[in-house]
Amino acid sequence: LHGSLKTPVRVRFAPSPTGYLHIGNARTALFNWLIARKEGGAFVLRIEDTDPARSRPEFTRALMDDLRWLGLQWDEGPDVGGLYGPYFQSLRKHLYQSQIDRLFDANRAFYCFCPPGEAPKIDWICRELSPSRVRERLARGEPAVIRFRVPEDAPPVTFTDLLKGELRFEPKEIGDFSLMRSDGMPLYNLSCVVDDHAMDISLVIRGDDHLSNTPKQILLYQFFGYEPPQFIHLPLILGNDGTPLSKRHGDTSVAAYRSNGFLPQALVNFLALLGWNPGTEEEFLPPDRLLELFRLDQLNVAPAKFNLQRLLWLNGKFIRAMDVEDLARHFWRELQNAGFSDASYELVRRITPLFQERVETLKDIVVKARFFFVDPWPIEESLTKKYLSDARLPEIFRQILHILESGEDLNPVRIEPVVKQCIQEGGFKLKEVLQPLRVILTGMDASPGIFETMEALGKEKVISRLRRFLSSA
Ligand code: GLU
Repeated sequence: LHGSLKTPVRVRFAPSPTGYLHIGNARTALFNWLIARKEGGAFVLRIEDTDPARSRPEFTRALMDDLRWLGLQWDEGPDVGGLYGPYFQSLRKHLYQSQIDRLFDANRAFYCFCPPGEAPKIDWICRELSPSRVRERLARGEPAVIRFRVPEDAPPVTFTDLLKGELRFEPKEIGDFSLMRSDGMPLYNLSCVVDDHAMDISLVIRGDDHLSNTPKQILLYQFFGYEPPQFIHLPLILGNDGTPLSKRHGDTSVAAYRSNGFLPQALVNFLALLGWNPGTEEEFLPPDRLLELFRLDQLNVAPAKFNLQRLLWLNGKFIRAMDVEDLARHFWRELQNAGFSDASYELVRRITPLFQERVETLKDIVVKARFFFVDPWPIEESLTKKYLSDARLPEIFRQILHILESGEDLNPVRIEPVVKQCIQEGGFKLKEVLQPLRVILTGMDASPGIFETMEALGKEKVISRLRRFLSSA
C-alpha cells in the first residue's frame, strides 16, 4: 500500500437509488464492508438521492434489501441511524447550500447558462458575466448550473491512491466542474465532498470510473480547508470479451443472481475474488474465512474478468456445503415459485440429498426434479428415438414391472440386485435397460441414481409410468 491506513477507519458505500444494485457496486460495497469489519471501523450507508428525476424510493429499498441479503450490514445509515445523519442526501440540502454560499463569496463559483453538453471545459464567457446580468437571466427563468471556477494559476492537483500511488492532474484537464443545479439540488462532486467530510469518512473506496472526479473533489477539499480522506479506486470489471461489464454480457444486477438461484455467500466469495487475491490457492472462501484472509494490500490493480463459470462452480460448492434441511427449504421455495404447488416440504426434503451434488444453482432443482411434480408424458421424440426404440424393451420391462409390483415399497437394497440380475439374465447390458427406464420415469436422460430415484418417486408413480409406456409401445 502507498501509505498506511488512517484510523479509526470510517468507510462508506454511497449508491444513487436510480436502479438496482449492480455487480460492480456490490463489489465496492463488499470491499468497504470487509475493511470496516477487519479494522473494527464503521461502515456507513449513504443514499445519494440528489437527482429527483431518476431517484426512486423503491430503488433505495431494493438496494438495502440486496445489501442485507449479501450480508453487508451497515453500522450507520437510513433506518439504523447514527450520529452523522441524516443519511439521505436529499435531507441535507442546507449543508450544500451553505458551502455554495462560501464558494460564491470567494468568487470560486459562477452561474453557467450554456446548454447542457455544450459548456466548454474552462468557461471564459459565463465566468465573466456581470452579477446584474446573471440576476436578470435567472429572473427570466433561464436554466443554469453553478460551476466551480478552477483557478487559472492552480498548480497540478495531486493525491495518493493507496493502490496506485501518487496521481497528478492538470487544472486545464479538470475544467470548471458542476456543483449545483439552479433548483438547489447539489451535484455529485459537491455533495460527496461535503458529506464525506461531515461524516468523518477516513477512506473512500470506489470504482475506477470515479477516478476523474477525485481531483475535482480535492480542489473542493482544498478550498473548504478540509483534510481529504484516503482513496482507493478499484479496477474495472470486464466481461469475457475484455470490454467493461455491461448488460450485453448477461445479468449485471445482484437481484438477477439472487432470483436465479445463487447463494449470497457464493456471490460474496466471487465478488471478493474479482479484484482481490488471497495469496493462496484457496478459492472457496465462506464469509468468515474471507474476513480472516482479507487484506487491502492484496487488492489487484489490473481489471478483473467476470467469469460466470467460476461463479457457478463456487455456487455449487456452497450448495454442497449446506445443511440439508436448509437446502431443502431453498429447494422448496424454488419449486413453489415455479408453480409446483403440490411439492410438499416432506417430499422435497426427501429428494434433496439426491440433488445436493447435482445442481449448480438452487433454481436447477426446478428442471432437474421436475418429473417428481409433473408427469413427463409424452416423452420427447428425440429421447424416444434414441432410447426407446429397441423392440426387445417391452418384454424386459414387463419382467421388471413384475418385480417392482411384488414388493411393498421400492427399497433399493432389495430391488436393485434383483432388477440387475433380471436384466443380465435377459441378455442385456445394464445401461441398455436402465437408461431407457430412466427416460420413461423422468422424461430425461440424466437424473440421480435410478434406484434412488425410483424409491423417491414411489411405487405408484413408477408402476403407472412404466405401464403406460408398455401400453403405448
Ligand atoms: N453515488 C456515487 C455512485 O453511485 C458514489 C460514488 C462514490 O463512492 O463517491 O457512483
